[in-house]
Amino acid sequence: MTLTIDKVKELKEKPNPKQLGFGKYFTDHMFMMDYEREKGWFNPRIKPYEPLSLDPATMVFHYSQSVFEGLKAYRTEDDRVLLFRPEKNFERLNESNRRLSIPLVDNELILQYLKKLIEIEKEWIPKEEGTSLYIRPFIIPTDTNLRVAPANTYKLMIILSPVGSYYPEGIHPVSIYVEHEYTRAVKGGTGTAKTAGNYSAGYVAQEKAAQNGFAQVLWLDGMEKKYIEEVGSMNVFFRIDDEVVTPKLNGSILPGITRMSIIELLKSWGVPVKERLVSMEEIIEAYKNNRLKEAFGTGTAAVISPIGELNWHNEQYIINNKKTGELSKKLYETITSIQTGSMKDTFNWTE
Ligand code: PMP
Repeated sequence: MTLTIDKVKELKEKPNPKQLGFGKYFTDHMFMMDYEREKGWFNPRIKPYEPLSLDPATMVFHYSQSVFEGLKAYRTEDDRVLLFRPEKNFERLNESNRRLSIPLVDNELILQYLKKLIEIEKEWIPKEEGTSLYIRPFIIPTDTNLRVAPANTYKLMIILSPVGSYYPEGIHPVSIYVEHEYTRAVKGGTGTAKTAGNYSAGYVAQEKAAQNGFAQVLWLDGMEKKYIEEVGSMNVFFRIDDEVVTPKLNGSILPGITRMSIIELLKSWGVPVKERLVSMEEIIEAYKNNRLKEAFGTGTAAVISPIGELNWHNEQYIINNKKTGELSKKLYETITSIQTGSMKDTFNWTE
């Protein structure tokens, strides 16, 4: 399949790198590809970034049969561009496609197209510390039909957004509300997929937590509200004494690429790390015995987000005096240094 490239006539003005925020600005071009049952995926193209015109009956507006990914491109000191384990994101995109009855994509080919798009948009990758180019691949169903069934036509798009540092004032621990009313995902549901509805379904709990001064919620399993699953839209880790534990992928947790990398990194350092069931009771017990040393979320956006406080049934549990723990700091520094090329990538994670 030949990739066609249609460049814009006039480039946009680039935003002030100090005021990027997250997902507010978009580059000059985007990638698009179409799918029809008879043809498969076809017409890969890089074209000017512009609004779409869609019929109100287009399926994407009705039953949420859509999937997305999130990854970043970083600019190194010597002006190279690095992607962090991008093949894992496209493998996960296909896992999400499987769950949402969306036709699979040729993930290796899409990665080649993405690299071409980034090459064209290189000047949009900010240079300032902590900044990056956020990459948002997504797929929408485009049949104009209100039928409740998988679509026959789709569009895959990739848009790019320069984003600011997640920690403009330095990495800092956040307060977390342990949610025991609402559920993010259940076994057999869509929790393991990156699909639109999973995120909007979490807003009500997120808003409730925010109104009470919490940065995010800790999600428990949907059946017994006993076992820990994720924190906000991040995976979660705890250091109990010198062992690190994280909830095992049980069929309702999103398999994070940062999570996978943290586990591999810890193992390479000889730090014991276990993927297993982790109950809220166990964490409170460890806390009471002074054995809970650190807790943190992991994800592409922040890499590591230390947890300084858990609130469970109106009890407050302060972790590590609300300071960033040693291991959290070391993990953050190592992963961000690999991502930005300032540390040798012995794992071959960047390309
Ligand atoms: N859980 C959820 C629900 C997420 O949306 C994300 C972000 N993709 C993660 C965990 C972390 O995944 P990753 O490390 O691949 O960004």
